[in-house]
Amino acid sequence: MTILKSVREIEIMKEAGKIVAECHATLAEKIKPGITTKELNSITEDFIKQAGAIPSFKGHQGFPACICTAVNDVICHGIPNSKKLNSGDVITIDIGANLKGYHADSAWSYKVGKVSPDIEQLMKVAKECLFLGIEQARVGNRIGDIGAVIQSYAESYQYSVVRDFCGHGVGRELWEEPQIPHYGQPGRGALIKPGLTIAIEPMITNGSWKAKIDADGWTARTVDGSICIQYEHTIAVTEEETIILTQL
Ligand code: MG
Ligand code: MG
Repeated sequence: MTILKSVREIEIMKEAGKIVAECHATLAEKIKPGITTKELNSITEDFIKQAGAIPSFKGHQGFPACICTAVNDVICHGIPNSKKLNSGDVITIDIGANLKGYHADSAWSYKVGKVSPDIEQLMKVAKECLFLGIEQARVGNRIGDIGAVIQSYAESYQYSVVRDFCGHGVGRELWEEPQIPHYGQPGRGALIKPGLTIAIEPMITNGSWKAKIDADGWTARTVDGSICIQYEHTIAVTEEETIILTQL
């Protein structure tokens, strides 16, 4: 069941979202060749705790870290490790913070050093996919409108939209209903109503959309080694406007 949020609840989620956004801004300064995802995880844990919040991901369904890190062909749910990042890599960092019992969730892709023009374009298009999806998340539209615009835009560049992982409702739980597929037909799915709070998080690849899971049981990567880029915001739909909660 989709749980619509009150104005007061959305205000708390906005505070949680601000912590996540500030944490991303802090990490953006640190991402350079030579740093490890484990170090980025520690920075995040300190940041979220100092802000008075709880990292949402640590222990969520058993996940062992505060951030999910996805380097190059990793789609999502990568576990931070001691491997150094190299120039030319691209990394997605997914962060969640729980403040006063409410979560906010945002993933962002970052270049490490200098990346190829192909990856630059994939990053640009993936970010545009997110904002096109957010534009469709408004009262009177349907959930399917979000995925439809993302899929058609990504595919117009011959890119693929990952199917195995979706966006989701956010609130007292990190993952709530409804599921938000990033592909599909317009005009389908549930009507979007005021009080809906969701994370839209398209994962866009420059090859196949198919995923496989590593032996660790968490890390999802593309079957063909193609690069995956992801941008995610938690948003709140109100009668008047759609508010991005995880943006400064
Ligand atoms: Mg996320
Ligand atoms: Mg999410």
